[in-house]
This record gives sequence, C-alpha cells and structure tokens, in this order.
Amino acid sequence: MSTPPPLVNSSQVTSPSDSKVCIISHPLVQHKLTLMRKADTPTQEFRRLLNELSQLMAYEITKDLPLQEQTIQTPLEKLSSPVIRGKKLVLVSVLRAGNGILDGLLSVVPSARVGHIGMYRDPKTLEAIEYYFKMPRALDQRDVIVVDPMLATGHTAVAAISRLKLLKPKSIKFLCLITCPEGIKTFHQTHPDVEIFTASVDRELNDHGYILPGLGDAGDRIYATH
Ligand code: URA
Repeated sequence: MSTPPPLVNSSQVTSPSDSKVCIISHPLVQHKLTLMRKADTPTQEFRRLLNELSQLMAYEITKDLPLQEQTIQTPLEKLSSPVIRGKKLVLVSVLRAGNGILDGLLSVVPSARVGHIGMYRDPKTLEAIEYYFKMPRALDQRDVIVVDPMLATGHTAVAAISRLKLLKPKSIKFLCLITCPEGIKTFHQTHPDVEIFTASVDRELNDHGYILPGLGDAGDRIYATH
C-alpha cells in the first residue's frame, strides 16, 4: 500500500499573517480528530468526539481572557481570588455545522451568550447571502468567538466576520477543527486581525470546496444527512 500524502503542518502555511494561526496540537485533540476523520465513525460517536474536542479547544482559545480579583469567603476565611473580568463572552455559531461545536464550548463556558449567523452561497454570483443573523446585545463590550468546524474556501467565514464587525465587538477569534492553506489565505486577506484556532491545517481544497484529507461534510456527519 502506498504511503498517503502528509497533512500540511504549521511551518508550511503561507498566510500573510502566520502568527494569527494557532494549531492546537494537544495529544487528546489530535487523537480525537483522527477518530472523527475515519469514514466509518458512526454519527453518535462523531457527535460525542466533536463535543469533547470542542471542550478541549475551549481551554486554548480562552487562555488569555482577562481576570480580576474578587473577594470571597471560603468556609474558613476570606480571600481575594481571580474571576473573569468584563461582560460575558459571545459564542457565534455559523449555521449549521457551527452548532456542533457550540455545545462543547457551552459546557465549559456555561455563562456565554450565543449568536447565530446563517449564510448560503448564491449559485450564480457565488456571493454569500445572509438568511439569519441574531446577536446578543452590547456586542461592542464583548469578546466574540466565531465557530465553524471547517474553514474551507473561507468565503462564508469572511462574510460572517465582516457582518459581525459592523457591530464592533471588542475582539473576534475564529475556531475551527480543520482548515487548509487556501482558506487561511482568503480569510486573512480580509481579516488579518482575527486569529484562527484550529486542530489541523490540511493539505488542500478540492474543486468542490472540500478539504483534503479532511473529514467530509461536517454538517452531514453531525446531523446524519448524507
Ligand atoms: N465544509 C465541510 O463540511 N467539509 C469540507 O471539507 C469543506 C467545507
């Protein structure tokens, strides 16, 4: 059997702003992603792995949330102890596959507010058309994490973040499971300020906009619609 081509690794990513791609290489993340990639992983297990992976990735993407001291009373004495400062974080799901990541993140950050963006591609103009947009209030005072499992062509993510920026959030990060050099390039051409957090930068995009080797259609695999 011939050896399959390798995944692209971080040193091969040619994006205008390499520093804005964080590859989460934790062994548990990488192990679970491998199980999700397998074509014969059943829906139930795929969902469970996605949930677990999202929780693990939540640690990395929230690692620089600002803290402030709060005085509390333990059963024994008073102490000043850190809590997260500022208004609640906003998690924004790009419909529909983004919802698969949302549940895992919410189990780690249960107080987060949630927004949804729905976009589809006009088959004639190839433009991203918004069909749903609902955000929590006071976005200008909140940090936002946009989630979508696959950053492939990058067109939907670019359009979703451009729309979000009209509401002037304090900061935006983007979380996906898998991306590819083409997606990163397109994304950072328009949004060089937005850091991408991902478990893998795969080899390439095929002619149908699928990531290779990838894991197939994430939405179909989450919702068993294939
Ligand atoms: N969306 C998916 O779900 N999978 C891909 O490979 C690309 C886009």
